[in-house]
Amino acid sequence: MTNIKCSFCKNPLRTDLVNFKKIPIANYYKKIINPTFTKYNLQIKVCKKCLLVQSTNKIHPKKIYKNYFYKSNYSKTWKKHCKKLVEEISSNNKNKKVLEIGSNDNTLLEMFSQKKWSCIGVEPATNIVKTNKKNKNIKIYNEFFSKKLSKNIIDKHGYSDYIIGTNVIAHAPDICDFFKGLSNLFNSKNVGIFEFQYLLPMIRGGFYDTIYHEHYFYHSLTNLNKILNKYDLKVYNIKKLDIHSGSLRIYVVKKNSEIKTSVQKNKLLNYEYKSGINKIKTYKLFKEKVEKHKKDLNFLLKNKLKKNLVCAYGAAAKGNTLLNVLQINQTHIECIFDKSNLKNKLIFPGTGIPIANLSLIKKIKPDYILILPWNIQKEIRDELKFIKEWNGKFIIPFPKIKII
Ligand SMILES: [Zn+2]
Repeated sequence: MTNIKCSFCKNPLRTDLVNFKKIPIANYYKKIINPTFTKYNLQIKVCKKCLLVQSTNKIHPKKIYKNYFYKSNYSKTWKKHCKKLVEEISSNNKNKKVLEIGSNDNTLLEMFSQKKWSCIGVEPATNIVKTNKKNKNIKIYNEFFSKKLSKNIIDKHGYSDYIIGTNVIAHAPDICDFFKGLSNLFNSKNVGIFEFQYLLPMIRGGFYDTIYHEHYFYHSLTNLNKILNKYDLKVYNIKKLDIHSGSLRIYVVKKNSEIKTSVQKNKLLNYEYKSGINKIKTYKLFKEKVEKHKKDLNFLLKNKLKKNLVCAYGAAAKGNTLLNVLQINQTHIECIFDKSNLKNKLIFPGTGIPIANLSLIKKIKPDYILILPWNIQKEIRDELKFIKEWNGKFIIPFPKIKII
């Protein structure tokens, strides 16, 4: 029996999705050799009543965002994705106002600013905000989004025409306060666009590397629909996205809006139902998939390739869970290459593996490179195609372990 209650409906949480035990916080790198990382229980459960998949040990966001290392600007795929979204929204709209929650390094807002839109951003990571280029068109609130902040924003700036949040609705531990705040930002005319890592492909594909402390929640449309409805909002359209190993974009309006619900939304709700999103068995199958994958990748890295020089690419959050769950250290992976200068020579959380500048690949000449952000593997393989010169190969960990 457990006393832990669902963050949304307060029903007792009894069904385990995974229990990875002690895992360090992702994106939390250290400078010294042999550092110790504080590790926290990473346990995910599903609520039988409202189907919200959630972490049971919510690390305070201040610990996570104190020194945040993720910058949107480093991924070409992400920049292209943002550009497409900006084009979609701004093609028939001039001089509008946009509010982005989780604006990071302003990658998206800078694009809107170029279209002469006025921009408001909310971003808690102070180290990121400090390094952002000054732009008088962009007003940043360097704090966590909350019900309180939503009121301040409306008082000062009025309603925005668009409210955008990419990979942010799963990152607020107090889900009720966050959605109450979100609801405050809507009037009968404006539109919200939110993208999040979609639960269904994760469950079906067994992509446990997308589970980490920063993600307090893992949403399906079925479950998010319930949450939004409670706060007087509704999803009127959806779009499936390939980004981040399967994401979903939802278009949101106030519940009383006259905008009609699209066929696509209803189709996806039906599809989720047929896929067993409301059956506990589906979540149990996920657990089995995770165990099988762990066994196979461990065998490859710790036995089969033991005598080879193996490195990894992409010191991102995704790799954090994977490498720590498998208990990989420098005896298995020599170093992790990364493009970001912020991370150069730092130690990857919990593993003791150093992060190396990309330029060192040609010197080190690894036999194998494990691509951690496998969702953008095409971009990475293209960038690193020169490893073929010494017959280097890539290991792609998901959807199926593959050597190319
Ligand atoms: Zn619940």
